[in-house]
Parts: sequence; C-alpha cells; structure tokens
Amino acid sequence: MHNTILLAQENKELQTINQHQKKRNAPRSYIATGDILTGAEELQHAQEANQRQEEVVAQADLQPQKQAPPTCSTCNIVGHTRVQCSRC
Ligand SMILES: [Zn+2]
Repeated sequence: MHNTILLAQENKELQTINQHQKKRNAPRSYIATGDILTGAEELQHAQEANQRQEEVVAQADLQPQKQAPPTCSTCNIVGHTRVQCSRC
C-alpha cells in the first residue's frame, strides 16, 4: 500500500517536472495557433498530416485522372479556351 502512495506521489512530481520542462523547452516556432505545441504534439500533428496526405493520394489513385476544365485566358471564363473564345 505504501508503495502505491509513493509511486503516485512520484508520478505527480514527475508530471510537474515534465510540465515545467515543456514550457521551458517549447520553441517559439511551435506557437502557431495560440496553442503552445510541444515537440511530441508537433510530431503527432505531423504524423496526422502525413496520414491525411496518404489517404488523399490513395483516393486519387482510385479515381481516373480528371482533366481540369479549360479556362479562357482572354475572358477568364471556365468552359472554353482562348482558341474557342467567341469574344476575340
Ligand atoms: Zn473566352
């Protein structure tokens, strides 16, 4: 029983130390949206972003490549090209 209490106390102390270190070690570059991201959180965000990117790539692979609709460089209307433009 004593051991459990001691461990719990030790844990709390470690967490406090951790929090202090996090604040001290947080580089300025991690302040992006007002939240201070720690290195670990930043890494997680990067990994999540990577996963999302991979999903997008996987979806893109499943679909046949669609060509972007033509945009007229004369009148900037999408749907026809400069060659087909009726305004020239
Ligand atoms: Zn046009």
